[in-house]
Amino acid sequence: MTERKPMIAGNWKMFKTLPQALGTARELVDLLKKPPVADVMIAPAHVFLQPLFTVFESTYVALGAQNVFWENEGAFTGEISPPMLTSVGCKYVIIGHSERRQFLSETNENIRKKIKAAIDSRLIPIFCVGETEAERDAEKTFSVLDKQVRKGIEKFSRDELKDLVIAYEPVWAIGTGKTATKKQAQEIHAFIRSLIEKIYGNDLAKKMRILYGGSVKPTNIADLMGMDDIDGALIGGASLEADTFSKIVYY
Ligand code: PEP
Repeated sequence: MTERKPMIAGNWKMFKTLPQALGTARELVDLLKKPPVADVMIAPAHVFLQPLFTVFESTYVALGAQNVFWENEGAFTGEISPPMLTSVGCKYVIIGHSERRQFLSETNENIRKKIKAAIDSRLIPIFCVGETEAERDAEKTFSVLDKQVRKGIEKFSRDELKDLVIAYEPVWAIGTGKTATKKQAQEIHAFIRSLIEKIYGNDLAKKMRILYGGSVKPTNIADLMGMDDIDGALIGGASLEADTFSKIVYY
């Protein structure tokens, strides 16, 4: 039996205004009155973190950020630090999302620094990895993931990584409507778990939650969750509407 608690995480990306964010958050809290089996997280844009904390406080929804910088303070114009995030009630932070790797020059080295800084501030990182379509077509999926995982979490202690969450998000499935089949996703999740076992041992590998991300919807979540190594989902588009997201939460 798995000892891993499932997790359903929503990434609102660069969507919504403040009134829209507050409205969806309130609707979601109303819909999630029954204790979910999964941990639930919403990551809105940074400017909405504090107002949303007031809505999510003492509910089943935890707050996450979509990015963080690796220093605690300093002359880094436009950046947000781990202590800033914890000070507004953040519990989680998404790190290394493929959109940031693709459009914001996020590198494996920077991602590792961000994971380290987040953990040092007691934030739980949701560390994203995933191959592009071209990499999959060139049969490079496993080597790409091997490198992303190793570089992102090298030279940590097992204790530092005890709460880390990994999100496997094939880039070709994000926002495209194409979902990896449950077999394709399971194969990659098992590969990532075996890699964690190789580097950090069986105990950590058994405990680490690995989420799937890429066009998850109410209609495919149950199938994905039925697979041995899929512990939850990171959801973009389908997290923007409270009703749709709540159906995924209560899969
Ligand atoms: C994501 O942004 O992490 C994601 C998986 O997006 P979508 O669910 O829209 O594919």
